[in-house]
Amino acid sequence: MMQHTKCQKCESENVVLVEYPITDPNHYDGWSEIDCQSCGARFGRWSGKELQEGESEVRKERVKK
Ligand SMILES: [Zn+2]
Repeated sequence: MMQHTKCQKCESENVVLVEYPITDPNHYDGWSEIDCQSCGARFGRWSGKELQEGESEVRKERVKK
């Protein structure tokens, strides 16, 4: 995936895309959050918001029945 990503906080491009393990309830086949290696901030893939310590990005579900 060649998506240009950078930290929304410090604008550093020194970020890693984090996938949650399959055992995680929020596991998604792909990355779920962006972790900034410069300032330590984490951002959710779908929410785009900064994640707090211990907080996980909840997988965006489009369940319609
Ligand atoms: Zn940052």
